[in-house]
Amino acid sequence: MDEALSSLLARAEAAPRSLTTAELARLLALESPDDLAQLYAAAYRVKLACCGRGVAVRGLVECGNVCAKDCYYCGIRKSNARLTRYQLAADEIAAAAEEAAALGYASLVIQSGEIESDAHTAFIEDVLQRLAPLNLGVTLSLGEQTEDVYRRWRAAGATRYLLRIETSNPKLYAALHPADHSWARRVDCLRALRRCDYQVGTGVMCALPGQTLDDLANDIRFYGEMDIDMIGMGPYIPHPDTPLGARGETAAPTAEAKAADYARRLALGLKMIAVTRLYLHDVNIAAATALQALAHDGREQGVRAGANVLMPNVTERKYRRGYQLYADKPCLDENASLCRHCLDRRLAAIGEELLYGVRGDSRHYAARKKEGAR
Ligand code: SAH
Repeated sequence: MDEALSSLLARAEAAPRSLTTAELARLLALESPDDLAQLYAAAYRVKLACCGRGVAVRGLVECGNVCAKDCYYCGIRKSNARLTRYQLAADEIAAAAEEAAALGYASLVIQSGEIESDAHTAFIEDVLQRLAPLNLGVTLSLGEQTEDVYRRWRAAGATRYLLRIETSNPKLYAALHPADHSWARRVDCLRALRRCDYQVGTGVMCALPGQTLDDLANDIRFYGEMDIDMIGMGPYIPHPDTPLGARGETAAPTAEAKAADYARRLALGLKMIAVTRLYLHDVNIAAATALQALAHDGREQGVRAGANVLMPNVTERKYRRGYQLYADKPCLDENASLCRHCLDRRLAAIGEELLYGVRGDSRHYAARKKEGAR
């Protein structure tokens, strides 16, 4: 007979990396409300034990939607001609950062489509130098670059980098991207980021067409094998102006079917957070905005399932429509201070709170540095 769920969870809670791939997949397959409540409660206890109460916050600046990539699922892919392209000026990024700092957010994420050019490298370098006096923790999420570029941005003040592997299965990766997009290069980039001494973040999308629970269990193993410091992952949400979203196989025909489809994506996203927390313990895990696109309280549910980071949007309202990676993106008409009040309220409702004035660096990174120094 299978080990009881409670004993499996107790084993996972007691020490990191104590589950096999099959056991990770078993947890990801849980469906009954009672089992899920047990899973989330165990993951939340690990979150409290390893990260404490409170949720670290990063103001998210979506600084441009120009992208050289053509990922089949992404709304800002190069071939989406229905999109007006924008790029924030350095002053606008600095203004967003100042607003984030004024709101008490001690960390910032700068994200955009993928551009590899000398001009772009120098532009980001300049932005980072301008942000230095604000003394914020800065995460970059600017895609694949050469090690030299990562090194320059690290020297200019960025301390964290988020580059999702999207899926740890190279075959599935190949099915979701054009032939010139390389899974192996993404792995190389993660290794380069590590060499440049970033807090390294990665993640995957779940509920992708063709993805199995074994794939997702392997994704979590991948995080462990790469000794990742931060995780940003979320459910795939079809976007109508993309090959994958338009194909119909992921789009739901009626409102009812769509609600059921969204509930399934959300449940899988929450399970991925919980099982990742139970497996890795001390990493930072973000409750992605995609969760909120699926349910109004999706991010809070993410925290209850073990996430300890939120990334409210601080991008100026007029640009938000230009950065829709997926359908039903929330908060398009809000500004940063509205988002903050909304989050305060939502977190209070689950007995949590935003950590103002706290950078919220990855404890796993600190532990791994200490280990290395020994
Ligand atoms: N260009 C950067 C980051 C921008 S995209 C990079 O390459 O890392 C940020 C993330 O949005 C992607 O890594 C992807 O996982 C996610 N994303 C893109 N399309 C999505 C969709 N349709 N549903 C859910 N997430 C999506």
